Amino acid sequence: MPHHHSQSSRSNPPLQTSLPISFLIIGGGIAGLACALALQRVGHHALVLERTDRNAARAEGGVRLPPNLSKILFHWGLRDVLLSKASVTTRLLFMRYESGDLLGEHIWDADMLKETRGMFLMMSHAELYDVLYDAAARLGAQVRYNAEVAEIDAEEHEVKLASGEMLSADVLVGADGEYGPSRTVVLGEEDTGTPTGLAVYDTLVSGKHIPEYAMKLSEKNGQFVAFGESHAIVAYPIRGSEDIAFQLYAPDTGEDGRYGDGPSVDITSIATNITQKLQTAVSGARKAVRVSVRDHRDLEDWVSDDGRLVLIGEAAHPFPPGTIQGTAMAVEDGAVLAKLFSHLSSERQIESFLYAFQELRQSRVRDVRAGEFASAFFMTAEGPDAAERDAAMRRKAATGKNVLEGEGSAEGVWEEYRVVFGYDCEDEADDWWVQWGMLRERANGAAEMGASVPSLLDFSSAMGQVQVTTAAE
Ligand SMILES: Cc1cc2nc3c(=O)[nH]c(=O)nc-3n(C[C@H](O)[C@H](O)[C@H](O)COP(=O)(O)OP(=O)(O)OC[C@H]3O[C@@H](n4cnc5c(N)ncnc54)[C@H](O)[C@@H]3O)c2cc1C
Repeated sequence: MPHHHSQSSRSNPPLQTSLPISFLIIGGGIAGLACALALQRVGHHALVLERTDRNAARAEGGVRLPPNLSKILFHWGLRDVLLSKASVTTRLLFMRYESGDLLGEHIWDADMLKETRGMFLMMSHAELYDVLYDAAARLGAQVRYNAEVAEIDAEEHEVKLASGEMLSADVLVGADGEYGPSRTVVLGEEDTGTPTGLAVYDTLVSGKHIPEYAMKLSEKNGQFVAFGESHAIVAYPIRGSEDIAFQLYAPDTGEDGRYGDGPSVDITSIATNITQKLQTAVSGARKAVRVSVRDHRDLEDWVSDDGRLVLIGEAAHPFPPGTIQGTAMAVEDGAVLAKLFSHLSSERQIESFLYAFQELRQSRVRDVRAGEFASAFFMTAEGPDAAERDAAMRRKAATGKNVLEGEGSAEGVWEEYRVVFGYDCEDEADDWWVQWGMLRERANGAAEMGASVPSLLDFSSAMGQVQVTTAAE
């Protein structure tokens, strides 16, 4: 296959495992599908179990794909399909919520974007979902809908569905989100965090309703942010500029709202005291899904003490809704897991790879998640904090500076973004292999050299035929 883009050719085709094993992935959201795709790419076998049907698992709301995420999907050969659907963004526009006054802009530095080998893209959750689903299915991943996992036995790497059916595999992956059963099993108790009092009201405004805004945003390749007292709006064009993804951060009217709940909230009663310009957008918004922002402690372990169950995505590390990096971290998880398991040549390595995954991902996610929380509260600051933030932005804008840059010796938010965007999770996984994995192999190696490769493909028969041939690109 010819490679047109340097970004997509580097790890394409990827190293194939010499010991294909089976993975049961609990939860068919973005994390589960991306993980299935990544594992199939390196020759493993993935079966995804999703509680709902395919329509309920995807949503029309917007997701943002920062460069650290898009670069992975480019590596996987999905550049063209993504660019056929996504809007590209290169700047952020900031304004005040009550007055509509412009606070300033932040324009992405082109060299920096190039360095990341990714792009900053925006699309609907459903579009991203379908891209991942189609690619995973093409490589032979199986996805079963209406398959709710009711019980998980980590020791036996076996699950029981709500229907009573039992399924097992060599490794279980918990990709069932903040409220799914995997997190509870690994932690030994339920933990859905504590409410912060803030919610994201996630909705869309038809571009037709605000044609000027929609045009301006898409012409400027912009994302738009409005700051109000304890309120903020994030808006960006998706599906060309047909729709504007519209996320309102505001005090929560409950504590347990989540994605997947039906759209129930008329935001005109929440986005009060707003400039006329924005009022037009708000009054044209569809009913919003209310997603509570909950705060979670960092889990000490993402791997079950009892055996081969590993958490990824929101199940391992719930992010505040609507932030830039939540989806990105979910996909990075699958990418890293698959990179490590591409080196699998002996069953003995399974446990060590699961712990390597945990080690690689925990520090990365901890930093990024802290930054995203800070950003949600930065946007919705009140009183003197808000005044200080706005004054600093105005100062920078007045001198032609990018408003997220640092001032004087202080680091700005932008310097942090640079590092987060530049990270290549697959390179990090390769580095782990070169620095640690191979050494361990040599140390353990000689004794097992001649051992024949056992077949570990033990999906239970109920699953039907398992393709044992190596998935082709
Ligand atoms: C329906 C839906 C719509 C969303 N829409 C948006 C959006 O518009 N914008 C945005 O930024 N983010 C959205 N998100 C959140 C976003 O997907 C996540 O923040 C992130 O991308 C990665 O999540 P994840 O795959 O780890 O977890 P999730 O997205 O929470 O997916 C977990 C999946 O596991 C399934 N599951 C749970 N329990 C079980 C079980 N017992 N057995 C089998 N399956 C189970 C759930 O049904 C769900 O599909 C949405 C999430 C969902 C579930």
